[in-house]
Formats: sequence, C-alpha cells, structure tokens
Amino acid sequence: MSADCLFCRIVKGEIPATVVHETDTTLAFRDINPQAPVHVLVIPKEHHVDAVALAKADPQLSADVLRAAAAVAESEGLVADGFRLLFNIGRYAGQEVFHVHLHVLGGAPLGPMLAR
Ligand code: AMP
Repeated sequence: MSADCLFCRIVKGEIPATVVHETDTTLAFRDINPQAPVHVLVIPKEHHVDAVALAKADPQLSADVLRAAAAVAESEGLVADGFRLLFNIGRYAGQEVFHVHLHVLGGAPLGPMLAR
C-alpha cells in the first residue's frame, strides 16, 4: 500500500468509489470520467505501478486482474457485442494514475483503437 496513491486509498475505503466487483485480491469500480457507456477500472488491491511491474512481480495476481475483468464484462452485459480491455503504461500512453488498472470499456461501438 502507498499512503499517497489514489487507488490504494480507494482500496482502503478512504475515497469513495462505485464498486461493481470485488475479490480477495482485486477491486473493480466505475471510472469517474467514463469514456464509454460502461467504463470500469479493475485493479489489484496490492500496489504495483503498471502492468509491466505487475506481470514481473506477480503473474498470479496479473491473472486475477484479467479474471476479474472478464467477470465484470459478463455482469455488465458486454460479452455478446464485444468490448475493450486496455492498460495505459507510461508517458506515451498517457498513464495518469500509477497504480495499475485495467480499463473495461463497452456498451456501444468503441471506434478505432487509436485516435488519428
Ligand atoms: P490512465 O490514464 O490509464 O492512468 O487512467 C486513469 C483513469 O482513472 C482515468 O480514466 C480517470 O478518469 C480515472 N480516475 C481518476 N480518479 C478516479 C477516481 N477517484 N475514481 C474513479 N476513477 C478515477
């Protein structure tokens, strides 16, 4: 846990979030500034800065995050029409919060993968 990390503070209940799914190791909550009709962030409860750090440190926890994202996609009704899973990593990707989070986006056609 990192005392000044926004998402660690959500895990600790110090900052409110709309939680849609929780396991022993993961938490999923709605993005505060949604980019699609459904926009959920799935995080490991343990602090890792990004997906590369998480994959290196704990492959099992990486799998937990992916499994949780699949459960969210099912419970949000996204599977039939398709959806997008996205990690932003570092400066070029515009990562803003340095606690790894998997974006689950769906509920409408999402357009091209990258802005042109
Ligand atoms: P990224 O650019 O991949 O680091 O995405 C960070 C995401 O966190 C953005 O989509 C923000 O809208 C979202 N976000 C920031 N603060 C909060 C918060 N307090 N609760 C939920 N989502 C948040």
